[in-house]
Amino acid sequence: MKAHIARIVEKLEQQTRLQVAVLAALAHEQLCSDPRCECHETGVPPGFSVTAAA
Ligand SMILES: [Zn+2]
Repeated sequence: MKAHIARIVEKLEQQTRLQVAVLAALAHEQLCSDPRCECHETGVPPGFSVTAAA
């Protein structure tokens, strides 16, 4: 029973982390004030790994 609960918690944590990552990316776009940040070039905030195609 405890292992079962632990697995559910684990899944929830993964989802939360994913949501946090998405929110952080969205927030970055709105909050980023660095004109040289790569998010302006790629449209993808740094750390939002879609393989940094240099
Ligand atoms: Zn940026």
